[in-house]
Amino acid sequence: MQHNFIINLLDLKRAIIKKVRYKKNFVKIHIELPVREQNCSHCKATTTKIKDYRTQIIKDIPIRFKITLLSYRKRRYQCKECGKTFYEKAHFLPKRARKTTRVTEFIVDRLKTKQSMKDIARM
Ligand SMILES: [Zn+2]
Repeated sequence: MQHNFIINLLDLKRAIIKKVRYKKNFVKIHIELPVREQNCSHCKATTTKIKDYRTQIIKDIPIRFKITLLSYRKRRYQCKECGKTFYEKAHFLPKRARKTTRVTEFIVDRLKTKQSMKDIARM
């Protein structure tokens, strides 16, 4: 699958796809955001100084019936003025939460009707 296709499908604009791993039961997409000048969340001074990274795994909507996992390498910046650290803002995180909720609602809705778990899983 093309990276551009995945970016559009999952609405990951501005994110960089580092690699995509296709496994038997899931697809793991490694992403990070480009380095950008940040405004300190405490004193508003600008900074590009990187403190460290933390990898966050986000379960996403399935692609072609496979579970999608986003492995997001979250970057932490450090303010040069006040020395405090903060994480970059990831535009795709709140959206992800909503999508996950939608998928859950869909499954709950199907469970109310008399479909077997197997049928739901297939869908
Ligand atoms: Zn600051």
